[in-house]
Amino acid sequence: MSDLYAVFGNPIAHSKSPAIHAAFAAATGQDLIYEARLAPLDDFAGAVAEFIRLGGKGANVTVPFKEEACRLASRLSERAARAGAVNTLSFAGGEIVGDNTDGAGLVGDITRNLGVSLAGKRTLLLGAGGAARGVIAPILAEEPACLDIANRTASKAAELAAVFGDLAGLRAGCFADFAGLSYDVVINATSASLSGASLPLPAGLFASDSLAYDMMYGKGETPFLRLAREQGAARCADGLGMLVEQAAEAFFVWRGVRPATGAVLAGLRAQLAV
Ligand code: NDP
Repeated sequence: MSDLYAVFGNPIAHSKSPAIHAAFAAATGQDLIYEARLAPLDDFAGAVAEFIRLGGKGANVTVPFKEEACRLASRLSERAARAGAVNTLSFAGGEIVGDNTDGAGLVGDITRNLGVSLAGKRTLLLGAGGAARGVIAPILAEEPACLDIANRTASKAAELAAVFGDLAGLRAGCFADFAGLSYDVVINATSASLSGASLPLPAGLFASDSLAYDMMYGKGETPFLRLAREQGAARCADGLGMLVEQAAEAFFVWRGVRPATGAVLAGLRAQLAV
């Protein structure tokens, strides 16, 4: 019988994860089924328990359950504990092990797919929600010159800077606090692009050879990437590659096999283009 995996979210019908994992399984010869499961907003734990009862071996977790998944896990990987959020669960021997592959996905997309090293780069992270928190330690592990955090609500950026203060000194503030500074890499981890909103960024943030990266992806240019291009960012990238890379990392956690990602990413990119 095929091993059973799923992604839990609410909503979930839009998820690309089943197609991504089916492609990874076919390419690596792994015998598994991966489905999308809608979890009730008030009973994520019940949905997971039912899935384990059915023989589920592991699951991805997406909006809005990543923090709840972190609390549900009986054991956490170091990167999940740091992130305070879980996007990958493994079920074995009565244990629920929580992991977080979002940061590895982002760093893998930037460094391998886009060929941009973060080492020595002045890096600015926009946003202080779950996605931002999940990528801070993996970015710092690449040894950027600095990692600053700008958020609409300055106090939340300050909180994150304090949480990760043992790893590095992180400057934190609201967007206007970064006027006069410029960065080699600017990563948008806010959900502003989801609602089509533009960020009130001070002019001059993007250094002449900079990369602007939006974790959001979709058809066409996101509002953040449009702004970045207009303000002089040399390169712009959306988060589709991060999505595929975090999935590949989850696949590796579960199966011990690292799938190639290029063809899957190219296929998804082509779908978005039509
Ligand atoms: P959260 O809800 O946890 O955080 C939202 C963040 O966005 C907060 O910092 C919030 O600021 C900010 N924000 C929301 N609306 C606006 C606005 N109009 N103007 C300025 N700031 C705004 O969301 P997540 O961290 O979970 O997700 C953030 C984004 O990352 C989403 O777009 C999500 O799709 C994407 N993502 C992509 C992944 C991928 O694989 N490509 C993986 C994970 C996430 P404030 O604190 O002031 O409210």
